[in-house]
Amino acid sequence: MSHEPTSSLVRFAMLVGAIEVSTGGGEIPTPVTSAIPLTEKLLINAGGWPAMKAARDIVKAGRVTEARYEPPLLTGFVREGIKNFRSGLRIKSADDVENLCTCWESRSSGKICGHSVAVGLALLRPVPAIVPEQPKIEETAAGPEFVALGMAKAKAAKLHLILPPNFMSAWAKGQVMLVVEAEVGANRTMISALPKKAAFACDESDLALIEGLREFPAIFSGGMGSSSRDAFLRFLPSLQNHPRVTFVKTTRVTISSAVVRPGLEIEQRENGGVTVKAKPMPNTMLLWNATDAWFLRGQEFVRCAEALPVGAAQLLDRPLQLEGDRALQFLAFDLPRLREAFDINASEGLRLPEVIPATPAFELRLAGTLNSVTGELLCTYGNRPAFKASTNEQDQFVFRDPENAARILLDSSSNARSAITE
Ligand SMILES: [Zn+2]
Repeated sequence: MSHEPTSSLVRFAMLVGAIEVSTGGGEIPTPVTSAIPLTEKLLINAGGWPAMKAARDIVKAGRVTEARYEPPLLTGFVREGIKNFRSGLRIKSADDVENLCTCWESRSSGKICGHSVAVGLALLRPVPAIVPEQPKIEETAAGPEFVALGMAKAKAAKLHLILPPNFMSAWAKGQVMLVVEAEVGANRTMISALPKKAAFACDESDLALIEGLREFPAIFSGGMGSSSRDAFLRFLPSLQNHPRVTFVKTTRVTISSAVVRPGLEIEQRENGGVTVKAKPMPNTMLLWNATDAWFLRGQEFVRCAEALPVGAAQLLDRPLQLEGDRALQFLAFDLPRLREAFDINASEGLRLPEVIPATPAFELRLAGTLNSVTGELLCTYGNRPAFKASTNEQDQFVFRDPENAARILLDSSSNARSAITE
């Protein structure tokens, strides 16, 4: 995982910010903002209860690292699946809190997400770092050994995975009960009833299943275990093409190794905003989390689009409406990434912007008294109002070219940063 490098622009701004010459014995300049204390109340006010609830789960799972509060900036990293991304808040006052999370979801909706609330929460209630996704080797080592077919001294065994009869209600509760049975000769028993010191020979699909089951040690000790939604979605790939998966013991379930690319429709609205929505798929249940999405159609699980951008799965669940600069940002940066996972169908009249790296003009303004001189670096692009260079550290700065509505000018100094954080 790489940290964001400080761009040369920001480094320059920091240098300039450091031009604060004191003539000694003079009065100390009053700080512009005083630090706002970080509290749970502030986080709830900023993000609301849904974000707080998500944040508690994130903190409990030990997914926040490097949380720091250097007012007004709260920063940290949040792990989501295999991605680790930068998150945080700019707390200007108790009522003015800006989200700095780089997750796709917050960048599209502008809302304060659970990630950034989690960074604050992690500072308020630190938990010892735990690594929940590491397989617990000692526990599985206590069970029987499973080897490839053809190895000497190993009895042939076939494994059966049994899913709950009403899968969708188990999914809705976030508790999917998994039961694993082993068929050895004429006997079929719970996997936990197999002799612990014996070795069993399995076909490739069972060996893949055993690997996937290592996340559920309870299954090796008790034959069954409950899976969260996230764990179930991580488990599904190890079941692809497994011939013995059923709902209860009777209905055969297929976990396809195919990947579907769902359709995504982008509509231009009159005010320059866009609506993004998934093409409806009849008789299909969507199973999704922040990083993965699968469809359940009848008795078949099919993976939706490998390598979904973080947060993009929720597009399949509900439409997204974007206005103004957010719509522009979406069309310029998010849409190209979504194309890797979705079949994009843009409505007539939607013009995709052309992205042009722009070079800002800099202006250094010096202000102060005899005692203290402060430098401020200002940036200007085209006819856009000047802004402070140092406030640009977290923002991707885009705007429509005043001379060409189908063109986006992108701060070329932030280009490199956004490429690194994704
Ligand atoms: Zn986020």
